[in-house]
Amino acid sequence: MKPLPVKPGLWLFLILLVFLLLAPCGSSPAGEDTSPPEALFRVSRIRPDVRFRLSDFGEVLEFETDSALIRTTQRRAELLAEAGAEITRVFAPTSLSAPPVPSRVISKSGAEEPVIREILNLVDRDGLEEIMGDLTGENLVTIGGVERRILTRNSYQTEGIAWATGYAYERLEGLGLEVAYHEYEYNGNSWRNVVAEQPGSVNPEQIYIICAHIDNLPTGPVAPGADDNASGSTAVLAAAGILSDYSFEYTVRYLLFTGEEQGLIGSYYYVQDVLAAGDFIAGALNFDMIAYDGDSDGAMEIYSGTTGASNLLGDLFLDTIEVYGLALDPVY
Ligand SMILES: [Zn+2]
Repeated sequence: MKPLPVKPGLWLFLILLVFLLLAPCGSSPAGEDTSPPEALFRVSRIRPDVRFRLSDFGEVLEFETDSALIRTTQRRAELLAEAGAEITRVFAPTSLSAPPVPSRVISKSGAEEPVIREILNLVDRDGLEEIMGDLTGENLVTIGGVERRILTRNSYQTEGIAWATGYAYERLEGLGLEVAYHEYEYNGNSWRNVVAEQPGSVNPEQIYIICAHIDNLPTGPVAPGADDNASGSTAVLAAAGILSDYSFEYTVRYLLFTGEEQGLIGSYYYVQDVLAAGDFIAGALNFDMIAYDGDSDGAMEIYSGTTGASNLLGDLFLDTIEVYGLALDPVY
């Protein structure tokens, strides 16, 4: 472990080695409808041709340009995802609340830090392609001592998603990190996220998350999902590979979610459990669809939400692109 003499929060700069691009997730038929008759779903990025027949998918409670709140079944909501929309299951409000924000927050540097440049230089294309190939069935991988080919990571494909999460688990464990499955039940399905932790040396109770969803669409035996979202998963695993050789003041958690394509299910249950545990999440960077750049213009999207702390993290991201001269053209 090399000591990392950086100011608080500066480690976040290294995340800039990859693009941040939150975008709607793929499409395709869904699995068995084992859900209760109806639930609420927030639907966004609705294609114009789907917009005018939205009521075919359920009871439309709110509608605004390309987003809506609808009451429908899990299966019918997934048909909207199949039609290119992003779906988020809306659960009943919880009484849990986040811990108070500490006074110490992320600060911008505005200048290059040698250690961050060093970390950036450790990112290599071959390493990224290897992980991407492992996750998309391009390469054979060894999971639990058995050679496998991961042809799908769809949450309903029991074997494929077990191999994918098993692959991530073993890779993170191989880095010397403490790894666990975060298990949850949804509509009769037993699903699991993968969580690895790198404890902070000074403020271990403050946690920064680097995450992505590892599951994908379509629901079927073959679903490579290279961009959505082997790319984000690769970023998480590659970041862990590099950062685990450094020591940080704050705890870093590397997270891979399942059930994303069914309405952001895995991350919902994870948040419920960290709130119940009283964990303080100081910041989170989620990577979705960060590899494909059809016209090589470097365009990327940053979604920082609406709260001050989130905007600060988004600002830091923009600042980093500029300071380190990364070939990205962000839309904030
Ligand atoms: Zn996605």
